[in-house]
Amino acid sequence: MEAKQFGINDVVEMKKQHPCGTNSWKVIRMGADIRIKCLGCGHSIMIPRNEFTKKMKRVIQQGDTES
Ligand SMILES: [Zn+2]
Repeated sequence: MEAKQFGINDVVEMKKQHPCGTNSWKVIRMGADIRIKCLGCGHSIMIPRNEFTKKMKRVIQQGDTES
């Protein structure tokens, strides 16, 4: 079993796309809850980490770890 790896600033694809038609989300906050922002319309949502890992499909682009 391989755990899904993701980090801050990563762009991820979810199993279900946003109603705006975009399926690219940027991780903007990590914690017990994960905040992701839709790259299509800029809408951001906060979901519990375990729910996020279930709904996330893959990491499209790795974010910069240095800032
Ligand atoms: Zn959207």
